[in-house]
Amino acid sequence: CLKNQLEYQHLGAFVPSTSNAESVLEHSWAADERHRNGSPLSTIDGQLVAIKDNICTTHQPTTCASETLQAFRSPFSATVVERLKAAGAIVAGKTNLDEFGMGSHSVNSVQGPVKSPGTISASQRSVGGSSGGSALATSTRQCFAALATDTGGSVRLPAAWTGTVGFKPSYGIVSRWGVVAYANSLDTVGVIARSVEAAKQVYDVIKGHDPRDPTTMSSLTRSRINLHLSHRPRNEHLRIGIPREYLLKELHPSIHKHWSLVLQSLRRKGHSIHLTSLPTTKAALAAYYVLAPAEASSNLAKFDGVRYGKKAPNDREKPNVLFSNSRGHNFGAEVRRRILLGSYTLSSTAMDNYFVRAQKVRRLVQDDFNQVFAMKHPLLQHRQEDPSSISTDENGEGTGVDIIITPTSLNLPPLLSSLRSHNKTNDPTNQFQEDVYTVPASLAGLPAISVPVPCNDWQQVGLQVVGQYGDDELVLDAARELE
Ligand code: GLN
Repeated sequence: CLKNQLEYQHLGAFVPSTSNAESVLEHSWAADERHRNGSPLSTIDGQLVAIKDNICTTHQPTTCASETLQAFRSPFSATVVERLKAAGAIVAGKTNLDEFGMGSHSVNSVQGPVKSPGTISASQRSVGGSSGGSALATSTRQCFAALATDTGGSVRLPAAWTGTVGFKPSYGIVSRWGVVAYANSLDTVGVIARSVEAAKQVYDVIKGHDPRDPTTMSSLTRSRINLHLSHRPRNEHLRIGIPREYLLKELHPSIHKHWSLVLQSLRRKGHSIHLTSLPTTKAALAAYYVLAPAEASSNLAKFDGVRYGKKAPNDREKPNVLFSNSRGHNFGAEVRRRILLGSYTLSSTAMDNYFVRAQKVRRLVQDDFNQVFAMKHPLLQHRQEDPSSISTDENGEGTGVDIIITPTSLNLPPLLSSLRSHNKTNDPTNQFQEDVYTVPASLAGLPAISVPVPCNDWQQVGLQVVGQYGDDELVLDAARELE
């Protein structure tokens, strides 16, 4: 891994000077020793895990790829990092991202873009965003796996475009303590790895209740969900849903073709395919791009150059513009755009028309999923342990589906040069479209994973498996069927 870190340095997966070869070697010798004695701390003892640079670590700066945090070093590590270390994993370094997680191509970074391993720069493609550094570090074997955050698709899209597996667990399963917030109600820590099994190994280490994050589920709720799951009618074959609203005419033909091929092969294995409907899908993307910037505008208010963030040079003439100058100078264009958008949609004149409506759409998106899955939402039940709460037909078979399979992205990764050129297709809102398949699961807090499937006219395409809230293990099992 360390050799690969040197070889691929120029691709910008890591934020410079955050990987520490000496300490990595020291830790891996200690882990080797434990393995020799037959007492490894966990299945990932001694493995190098890269950390997205919006997750706090004490030994490296945490910059969120922003000018404003270039000098920030957190006095504590995030719970997920502590858990990895306790399991013997070694921090491989901090990975590059779109500033504060805002973007879909990992180009909105003060460090410069993350680049795919093309031989000539004209052939370099987007690695997806915002966790492009974590995805590229994993695909080029600079680490065993990487932690990343997913607010509207930032684990899954880069996984799809780098040929890796990207798992976003249900909201509330993994602690966000020590993760720099973009949009708290959507932010989820996920894992990027080269196989479903590796992603699960890391997930098993980082999940669990954290008293420091009140949005993580308590142990009691976790056992109630497990009880609820244990009442599900057992069937070795999956009922797989295909939402008709996801058959978009803009979907790239290769992705469409391989989606169909995978469904055919799953049918041959005995699983059944069902056309389903998620009618609010069309409004989900717009709702996300109202809600996420609204939360971001509130979260980023603290980077005013006094409480947090880099201070703008003093302007003696106008001392009262320090806050706006600090933000104006030290945030990139996309972050400034989101703050403006969010401040507007939360303002008293626009609130009802935008923020409140988007919240209603979010609820409809959640309702859509609840209509489609056989298992009811475990937290919306009055009595979780009541088996009759699971909708079944006269044979005891579930009437809804177990999982949904969709593409992860609309397109194959675009050339980086096409993102830079100033033309109509480069309108910033165009980049939002790439999140159309990932945002609905984020709005509903559902577990979702992107799995690479081989493709004959491109390297691979990413397909996404989405499950009911709390059904993370089934989503991982189903993902294995696609590998
Ligand atoms: N591309 C989306 C955005 O810019 C998703 C980002 C994310 O999941 N962090 O908001």
